[in-house]
Amino acid sequence: MNDSVPPRYRVAVRALCAFTARTGDLDHRFTPAPSAREGVAGHARVVARRGADYMNEVPLAGYHRGLAVSGRADGYDVRANRLEEIKTHRGSLERMADNQRALHWAQLKVYGALLCAERGLDAVELALVYLDVASGHETVLTERGEASELQAWFAEQCERFLAWAEQEVAHRECRDAALRTLGFPHGDFRPGQRDLAEGVYKAAATGRCLLAQAPTGIGKTLGTLFPMLAAMPRQGLDRLAFLTMKTPGRRLALEALETLGADPAAEPSSRRVPLRVLELIARDKACEHPDSACHGDACPLAAGFFDRLPKARAAAVAQGWLDRDGLREVALAHGVCPYYLGQEMARWCDIVVGDVNHWFDANALLHGLARENDWRVGLLVDEAHNLVGRARGMYSAELDQRRLGRLRRAAPGGLKRALGRLARQWHTEVREAGLSDAGEPGRPAYRVLDGLPDGMSGALQGVAAAITDHLGEHPEDASAELQELLFETLAFTRLAETFGEHSLCDLARHGRGRAVLGIRNLVPADFLAPRFATAHAAVLFSATLSPPGYHRDLLGLPADAVWQSVPAPFTAEQLEVRIRSDISTRLADRPASVAPIVAEMAAQFRRRPGNYLAFFSSFAYLATVHERFTLERPDIPTWAQTRGMAEHEREAFLARFRLGGEGIGFAVLGGAFGEGIDLPGERLVGAFVATLGLPPADAFNEVLKARLTTRFGRGDDYAYRIPGLLKVVQAAGRVIRGPQDEGVVVLMDDRFAQPGVRERLPEWWRPVRA
Ligand code: SF4
Repeated sequence: MNDSVPPRYRVAVRALCAFTARTGDLDHRFTPAPSAREGVAGHARVVARRGADYMNEVPLAGYHRGLAVSGRADGYDVRANRLEEIKTHRGSLERMADNQRALHWAQLKVYGALLCAERGLDAVELALVYLDVASGHETVLTERGEASELQAWFAEQCERFLAWAEQEVAHRECRDAALRTLGFPHGDFRPGQRDLAEGVYKAAATGRCLLAQAPTGIGKTLGTLFPMLAAMPRQGLDRLAFLTMKTPGRRLALEALETLGADPAAEPSSRRVPLRVLELIARDKACEHPDSACHGDACPLAAGFFDRLPKARAAAVAQGWLDRDGLREVALAHGVCPYYLGQEMARWCDIVVGDVNHWFDANALLHGLARENDWRVGLLVDEAHNLVGRARGMYSAELDQRRLGRLRRAAPGGLKRALGRLARQWHTEVREAGLSDAGEPGRPAYRVLDGLPDGMSGALQGVAAAITDHLGEHPEDASAELQELLFETLAFTRLAETFGEHSLCDLARHGRGRAVLGIRNLVPADFLAPRFATAHAAVLFSATLSPPGYHRDLLGLPADAVWQSVPAPFTAEQLEVRIRSDISTRLADRPASVAPIVAEMAAQFRRRPGNYLAFFSSFAYLATVHERFTLERPDIPTWAQTRGMAEHEREAFLARFRLGGEGIGFAVLGGAFGEGIDLPGERLVGAFVATLGLPPADAFNEVLKARLTTRFGRGDDYAYRIPGLLKVVQAAGRVIRGPQDEGVVVLMDDRFAQPGVRERLPEWWRPVRA
């Protein structure tokens, strides 16, 4: 199997077979796969049942005409000369699609060929071992593999892949040659942008993690993308992932890539950089048949998906620029699902622009591919000050008792027993948590539990198994609500498996039969640290990342992570910062604060009419001040944020900030208008901040504080002060967006004058007490 041609391309056994051995329909009907942890545990369970001659995780490699193929076979029993591929599953094996079974055989046969060649065997027994994670039962399918036949099979798979491998090699050479001479697209860097770019390049060159705080307006997107691209050929980076918190961030990254010459439609061929760019979007946004399920019997774009995939894939790499519209166009031209084509193209594109969950989530696609293919990946994470919150959400889950009640009443007979057991268990938990009484008016009764309720885990697993089995037998019963309960149940039980000091479990009761049980992550570091370790280099950037220790600790950054703060290109003269230290916005002092806040806002408006934003800690506080303001100053136009504004309402709120306009928009700190909006020049001349942004000192935050104190010794700072001030600085940062902007920020609370708070405000601010 070793040939004389040096390998030009390396491929993992799994990736090779995924390319060559998948045919027929896409089928994602109710076959919730075991979690990665269950998979690992299942493998260990099978291995433990084998004898002393059993070799676990056998590394195997082979070559075929310049193609290097490698992987680890699950197990080999030397004495029995039996090679095993172990797969874990849930529910009846009968429901496994034929093409999935064929894929498993393909992998096993390739391993068989590699093993026979390596050990000089004439034949080997091939065994596909399916372990049911719930019952522990093994179903074993065996076949005798003759070395000559297996070798022919291996050669055939390699031959099918070779043409693709050749064009991949050619693309990589062409891509890297172009990136070696990549020039900065604008004549010169903006002030601060070069410093940022140098920091990013250094991080890529040294394989480090960089926390880069860089102010608004210096061109952070281009200032990070350009150096990371320049580093790609020199550092042998396989892939680059640009990860954002929200959709507009993806658009900015794609625009920067267009500027760099990646979009063939936007650039003359002389400036074209041959990069394959993919925009990854959520399934619900990419789906062409939202009322269908993802399998061949229900969706025409799933039927024959794998048969049409080769041509669609070839067309997609030829096109190169696969933003949402570009990918959809290719997919529909070839009759395949755009969402799943996107998942496939994530394997073959140089740059993926997606959401942070594509790398950091428990089942993240890009992270999985990077590990499977041993990629060297450069990560760019935009608006990284939000990563702590986003990551906490990724590793948290809730179960809603009301939904369970609704489902139980309407459930098919086969599910009633399992749902009934869960409902009874739930009642017990609510009673034992002492939540029989309702909470204060308008607020739920709430308890942080000592740990995970034992009985719930068993009841939840029972529900998951019952729904899985039922939907397998009766796919017509697959209501959206039932599927949602299944996935919630699975997500919850998976988080329960890893429950520890990094998380808490709580119960909130909103009324009779309306309790919500939650696992809430407090310290995402334990989940994120391995993600950072997988990346070759990671750059986390934002205008507000101070203090770095907070992000280092909570995100689990490596010990050698570098901190860089790019000085703002703004001067203190551009922004007047006043602290009203005679006002207190503490809960008890709020009634007394209303009059001076209204007076301050009116006086400032009189001094300089224009558009202002005013931020408050809550909708109630906002409403109180707004009411008084409109009463006293009906001549000054105002408009206010309301709870749960629809997109068109948010747009209408922002549209009031027009050039030449005048008035005050009332908003809640940390809400839709506190960050991510751009109102340059005269569209916004000032901001009032009537809050320190501190989260409420409730039972949840007090537990959070206690855990953070135990772990980092910084409970008060990490639970309250720093998250609050990050929001204040973000909100105030709306005022100065460029070197020509001028404006005012009025911080209305005496605590802003305290040294511990002042030192956390941006260095270039020169606050004065008023
Ligand atoms: S188009 Fe929608 S329903 Fe069809 S396979 Fe794609 S995601 Fe599933």
